[in-house]
Amino acid sequence: MKRISLIVPCLNEEEAIPAFKQEIDRVFKECLEGYAPELIFVDDGSTDRSLEMIKKMAEHSPEVKFISFSRNFGKEAAIYAGLEAATGDYAAVMDVDLQDPPSLLPDMLKAIEKEGYDCAGTRRVTRQGEPLLRSFFARAFYKTIHQISDTRIVDGARDYKLMTRPVLEALLSLKEYNRFSKGLYEWVGFRTKWFEYENVERVAGETKWSFFKLFLYSIEGIVAFSTAPLALASIMGVLLSFISFLSIIILTVRELIWPHSAYGWTSLVCVFCMMGGIVLLCLGILGQYLAKTYTEVKKRPIYIARERSIKPFN
Ligand code: UDP
Ligand code: MG
Repeated sequence: MKRISLIVPCLNEEEAIPAFKQEIDRVFKECLEGYAPELIFVDDGSTDRSLEMIKKMAEHSPEVKFISFSRNFGKEAAIYAGLEAATGDYAAVMDVDLQDPPSLLPDMLKAIEKEGYDCAGTRRVTRQGEPLLRSFFARAFYKTIHQISDTRIVDGARDYKLMTRPVLEALLSLKEYNRFSKGLYEWVGFRTKWFEYENVERVAGETKWSFFKLFLYSIEGIVAFSTAPLALASIMGVLLSFISFLSIIILTVRELIWPHSAYGWTSLVCVFCMMGGIVLLCLGILGQYLAKTYTEVKKRPIYIARERSIKPFN
């Protein structure tokens, strides 16, 4: 019997976990008869009863496995830990809040087994129920990254993905500390079939992503998959040098024709402020790349497990 590993990151999800398990049981019973699930819950430092519930579930259901982190390492680290432990013929990453509908799994599996794809990816085509400002910035992010990165990150792509073992192994071979799964999925390549679906609201609990956390995450994505901002800093530098060189010539010529015509310090202050701003911006851009390089060279582990019922397999 073929096995499908489901990797489920959880951060304070005690309300969503029971509904998730119920839905998975239903889908496997009704639509995936010939397949056995392997449910790998990755507790990302929850402070509620999530881990307790998962452990209790594991007592009755042998297919339930868990890894519990020593603190909150983030969803990306949880995905990595889950992929590392997955023993299935196929692996899928999915949220526990049922915003990634498990009912799509049979079709996704069909794409891999019958149509020869290596991966089945999902993307949200609507963002209903999401705050307007959040949708606006999400769209702006995808537009920007499309223009400045060679890695094609699909608009609205979710982390929800079903993959074959070669894809899983390729993802694990990328050992970077600053992980941006949406980009990594694309970077490894392989043939992917996309499934589209409308946004569904969370079954229970609340989103774990504040606007600020998402903002930092988007910067992570840009820094990880594009060096265009660094080029932007250089372009701005060249442009401004050119403008100031031109101004010097114009002012010198003017001074020679109409002596004492160039005066006034207010304009100078404006120019200084603008230059200061641009220099700081460029320094900031440089700093972002430096900071990411710094965290990479330290080679700290992507996560630390406090407790686990399943060992790394891959
Ligand atoms: N999650 C996690 N660690 C985090 C944040 C989120 O493991 O630091 C999990 C969370 O429990 C959920 C999934 O990642 O299963 C997606 O989170 P959420 O539903 O809050 O994100 P949204 O769907 O709002 O983008
Ligand atoms: Mg969610």
